[in-house]
Amino acid sequence: MKKILVYLVVFAAIPFALKAQKESIHKFAPLPYAYDALEPYIDKMTMEIHYDRHHRAYYNNFAAAIKGTDLEQTPMVAIFANISTQPAAIKNNAGGYWNHEMFWNCMKPNGGGVPLGKLGDAINATFGSFDNFRKQFAEAGVKRFGSGWVWLVVGADGKLFINSTANQDNPYMNTEEKRGTPIFCLDVWEHAYYLKYQNKRADYITAFWNVANWDFVQKLYAEALVKK
Ligand code: MN
Repeated sequence: MKKILVYLVVFAAIPFALKAQKESIHKFAPLPYAYDALEPYIDKMTMEIHYDRHHRAYYNNFAAAIKGTDLEQTPMVAIFANISTQPAAIKNNAGGYWNHEMFWNCMKPNGGGVPLGKLGDAINATFGSFDNFRKQFAEAGVKRFGSGWVWLVVGADGKLFINSTANQDNPYMNTEEKRGTPIFCLDVWEHAYYLKYQNKRADYITAFWNVANWDFVQKLYAEALVKK
C-alpha cells in the first residue's frame, strides 16, 4: 500500500516537473558581427559595452522577471500587445531586450546605400524621396527628448510612418498611441553614441546611415505586408 502511494505521488509530480523543465523561448542571441565590424561609424568599445552590458542586462532582468510564468512561452509581440497589464520591470526590460536585438540586425558592416524594390518604392511614395525620409527620420531622432528610439513602422493600413518612442518602448506596445509593425530602428539613448560622438547626436545619426542593413528591412517590410 505504501509503495503504491509513492508511485502515485511520483506520477502526479511528473507534469509539474516537465513544466518546470521547459526552457524559455526567449534567448540571448549572439551579435551578428564582430564588435569592431561597424567601425569607423560605430566604434568597437561602444558596441562591446552596448551589447555585452546594456543589452545583456536587459535580457537577464527580463528573464528573471518572467521566470516560471507563462511569459516564458509567450512570443514577444504577444507580450507587447498586452504590455499595459505588466509591471514596469517587465515592460522596460522586455523592450530593452527586444529593441536592441532588432537594432543589431538593422545594421551591418558595409551597409548603407539606398533601399531597393518595394520598400524603396514605398519610401519614395510616402516621403517623396529617400533623402526626405532620411531627413525626417534623423529629425525624429534629434528631437527625441531624453532617451528613446526612432522607428520606421508599417501601420494597420499597410502604410509607412516614422515614429519615436521614449525609454525602451516600441510600436508593438499597446501603451503607444501610434502602433504598427516596426521594420527599422535607431537607438538614440546616449549610451549608443556618447563615447565617440559625445553630445553630438546628429553626427551619430549621420554616421548611422553608412551601416544601415536595408536587406533586413526589406525582408521585414515584405513580412509585414503579408500579415495585413
Ligand atoms: Mn541601447
